[in-house]
Amino acid sequence: MSPGSVEDLQQIVREVGARGGKLRVAGSGHSFAPLVKTSDTLVSLERIAGIESIDGHNARILAGTQLAPLGRELARRGFGMNNLGDINKQTMAGAVSTGTHGTGLQLGSISTQVRSLSLVTPDGDHVHCSATQNAQLFDAARVSLGALGIITALDVELEPAYRLKLEKRNMDLDDCLAQSVDLARLYRHFEFFWMPHTRDTLVKLMDWTDEPESATGLTTMSELMLENAGFGMVSRLVRARPEWAPAMSRFIARMSRGNQSTMVADCHRAFSTARLVRFQEMEYELPLENGADAMRELVEYVNNKRVLVHFPVEYRFVKGDDIWLSPFYQRDSVSISVHQYTGMEHESYFAAAESIFRNHGGRPHWGKLHSLGARDLAPLYPRWHDFQRLRRELDPKGLLINPLLQRLFLV
Ligand SMILES: Cc1cc2nc3c(=O)[nH]c(=O)nc-3n(C[C@H](O)[C@H](O)[C@H](O)COP(=O)(O)OP(=O)(O)OC[C@H]3O[C@@H](n4cnc5c(N)ncnc54)[C@H](O)[C@@H]3O)c2cc1C
Repeated sequence: MSPGSVEDLQQIVREVGARGGKLRVAGSGHSFAPLVKTSDTLVSLERIAGIESIDGHNARILAGTQLAPLGRELARRGFGMNNLGDINKQTMAGAVSTGTHGTGLQLGSISTQVRSLSLVTPDGDHVHCSATQNAQLFDAARVSLGALGIITALDVELEPAYRLKLEKRNMDLDDCLAQSVDLARLYRHFEFFWMPHTRDTLVKLMDWTDEPESATGLTTMSELMLENAGFGMVSRLVRARPEWAPAMSRFIARMSRGNQSTMVADCHRAFSTARLVRFQEMEYELPLENGADAMRELVEYVNNKRVLVHFPVEYRFVKGDDIWLSPFYQRDSVSISVHQYTGMEHESYFAAAESIFRNHGGRPHWGKLHSLGARDLAPLYPRWHDFQRLRRELDPKGLLINPLLQRLFLV
């Protein structure tokens, strides 16, 4: 169902509630976890989309707005978002609801850019919250998996439009890990990809620049291999012959060695990359001080156990925040993501990675695969019980609960 107005949405919520049904809201459906799965009513806010207004450096953005057109429109009006993730296919509300983030030790997740928001609660009311109005709801709703209500609009603090210079280069893994926190402090954005079965990383560094925008496009072999159809071909080969995964990963790393590239892009173009190859993903957010050790353990496991994977592991930084269910709650974090090509066995690899991440105090990304349930999650979040109390108050009949939320929130 795609209501065209908040009033229509309120009516749908009330009707489903009155018959004791279930309702989920979907953004772009870009979560790996079945967060929006339902056998009853699925609502999309694709018709409640666009920029409602811009006042100073704050934009009121309708919940169903996709990040790609949003970025273009903000740029046209002289603004940009403070930070973004790897892709721009998500909706604003979907990205916020799972704590979607980019990389930057001084920069929080997209949820931290939100200054206030409005949502339709399970009883059909339309309420507004901010740091000064319904403050507890605000602290809970900024990362809430669609469990407190349906967000209709968000006020987001913007930056004046800016340009970023991206440098890509290879680094030895040990050097990269040893320098990672320094690099993350030095550059506005720093991340790296480790190629399994090697000691090679591809490092991405980005910072403000006044230089003019360069021609965008694929410039190096590593980009060709990692970001376009060539990688898809290799992946299909590996799926057919999984035992070739280590050799293929080493081959990709060898092809990328010594390649360096620099590019300047307007901020709305600088963050997102084309992800043409489908994959499964698990990601954990670890305390900053544990990131490098967890990564070393993962590397040892993958290389020693000869795990059949050729997809790189991504390593990023995110600033801590004060949002109750944010995986970055009260701690600056390292984010480590493991991927496997679609159709290939990922379960044992992800289980081993998850065990390493959990031993280092990791919290799972809400939109990605993980095996945790309410009993595991509660001790990881100091405000867990406050969130659950609020959720029960707002949704006593479990209108917004689906099987995954049942596992995550109900013991
Ligand atoms: C290729 C790829 C790359 C990715 N890169 C990154 C990355 O760089 N960084 C990162 O952190 N994550 C990343 N992700 C994960 C992704 O950002 C999140 O899973 C995000 O939530 C997806 O947004 P969506 O609009 O598709 O929401 P959906 O997946 O449709 O929904 C996500 C959650 O938001 C809720 N929701 C949606 N709309 C509303 C609303 N109006 N009100 C209340 N709740 C709502 C849903 O109910 C659900 O619980 C990536 C995912 C993919 C597939």
